[in-house]
Amino acid sequence: MRKPIIAGNWKMNNTANEGVALINALKPLVAYADCDVAVCVPAIDIPAAAEALKGSNIALGAQNVHFAEKGAFTGEISANMLKEYGVKYVIIGHSERRQYFGETDETVNKRTLAALNAGLIPIVCIGESLEERETGKTEAVLDKQITEGMKGIDDISKIVIAYEPVWAIGTGKTATSEQANETIGYIRKKLAEVFCPNCAAKVRIQYGGSMNAGNCKDLMAMEEIDGGLIGGASLKPNDFAAIVNYNK
Ligand code: PEP
Repeated sequence: MRKPIIAGNWKMNNTANEGVALINALKPLVAYADCDVAVCVPAIDIPAAAEALKGSNIALGAQNVHFAEKGAFTGEISANMLKEYGVKYVIIGHSERRQYFGETDETVNKRTLAALNAGLIPIVCIGESLEERETGKTEAVLDKQITEGMKGIDDISKIVIAYEPVWAIGTGKTATSEQANETIGYIRKKLAEVFCPNCAAKVRIQYGGSMNAGNCKDLMAMEEIDGGLIGGASLKPNDFAAIVNYNK
């Protein structure tokens, strides 16, 4: 049985003070959640968020991690730096990082292995663009993101995967629950082929892309969907809480 995980991706929103206010509003609203809950905050918000989350059922996540242990990588943050603040999850390979910051399957792979090595749980994002979907390339794109981005992972069930069709992120366009379920089913089939069927059955695969209070119930009712990575709606405590409490 896979425990669903709903994680907020704040992206570049909320100063540390704003983030603490959001967390304080959110804590009582999600206190009885049946799923795992996390907020992935901007790096500079991490110390304040860690303090504000103490004693709650909300885990702390980051939005990126560098693959080196330490050294001359100006502006970067290592896995151990995140660990020291109690960070549990780290988003890797978000489509915005792939699109604007030159992230590739190779760097996704290096970051993922470094995060696992340090005991963090990577939330690895994969998904196709609109053009790729419309030209029938979805499966080929996902195959490459899996075989190259997840290469060398000993136990694939230690990561969380976020299937995020790029055309659905921040656009208000959601994949239908059937579309999301079918594609996530394909991802699981590919994981079984590349890794092992048993491990593939254990991997939690989230859907991400304009998930909100209105569509979360339908998406979460699908057999293959084990949670959500939530952008816009994670910035409003009531909206995010409604997603976390999708089964209530
Ligand atoms: C995301 O940033 O991962 C995301 C899914 O954003 P949104 O929910 O705003 O589409």
